This record gives sequence, C-alpha cells and structure tokens, in this order.
Amino acid sequence: MSTTVPTLTTAQLDGLACVRCGADDTEQQPTGDRGPDGAQLFACTDPDVCRAQQSIDTHFPLLAALRTKAQSAPVFVEHHLADGVPLLYGHKDGTLTVTYDPAQLTFESARELFAEAHALYPDARAVAFTNIGHIVTTSLPTDEPPARFESHGARCTVTFDDTRITKKQLLALMDKVVGL
Ligand SMILES: [Zn+2]
Repeated sequence: MSTTVPTLTTAQLDGLACVRCGADDTEQQPTGDRGPDGAQLFACTDPDVCRAQQSIDTHFPLLAALRTKAQSAPVFVEHHLADGVPLLYGHKDGTLTVTYDPAQLTFESARELFAEAHALYPDARAVAFTNIGHIVTTSLPTDEPPARFESHGARCTVTFDDTRITKKQLLALMDKVVGL
C-alpha cells in the first residue's frame, strides 16, 4: 500500500477525483489508499477510460487545470457506524459525503444503496439507514408537524425537520409511537 503522492490535487485527496487522471465524472473504485484526512482515494475502474482522460490532460492543459476542486461526485468514507447503521449520508462543506461501515457493506453495495436513496430523497440534508428503515433529515412545510412516520411493509421511514426538533426529541417521539 503506497502513501499519497504530494502532487495530488485537493479533489483527488478528498476522494472526489481519480488519483491517476483527475477526472471526477468517470466510473471509479477505491484504490485502498487514503488521503491525509482519511478519505478513501479513487481511480477509474476502466484503465482505457483513464488513459483517454490522461491524454486529454496532455493535450488540453487548461482543461486539466480546472480539475483541482471537483464537486460533482460524492465522497465515500469508510468508517465504523454505531447502532447497526450501515450507511449515512449528508452534506459537509457543500460536498456530499457518504459514510458506510465496511463491516456491514461493501463499497459497491454502499454505492448502489446511496444512488437509490439519493433519488428517493434528493432534498435530504442527511439520511441514515437503520434496522427499522430510513431516518431522513430535511425541511418539512411549517404547517406540518416536524416529524412524519410512514410505514412501507416491515420498514419505516422517519422524516424530521432538524430546524424544528432535535434528534433527541425525535428519538423520544419514536419511543412514544412504538408504545402506541
Ligand atoms: Zn482515471
């Protein structure tokens, strides 16, 4: 396992762009190496695509210079998550950060699950996957209660507005709902 190369851009060190070619819009997979902040580093899955991107950089240096701060791809971070939560995502400094527990999910499963969830809850500030279903942090219309409980078969979606109730209040509310 090699350590990070000092010439990597911020986007590459944040796991947003391929460490070989700098592209942030190609199909990518983890390299197994980490940036200084612990972010998983990524590289193009297809070596031909990666080589093609590198040749673009050679011929169009101005285009390559634009790839120093990519924002279009989510950052995947491997980290232990408590309470059996396999995946959690939310925004951090304008970047979409997906945290998944490698003990529970592979990177591929995490990516699939994230893609599905992001399509379901595009406005969410954070989504946690739990053993009961999904907990979605978002804004709810002010004429609605600050928390909404919906069941889909055995699974349940809890949507709450974090500007109106705290996570602690939400958990107390959930205990009450379970007791009904
Ligand atoms: Zn590449």
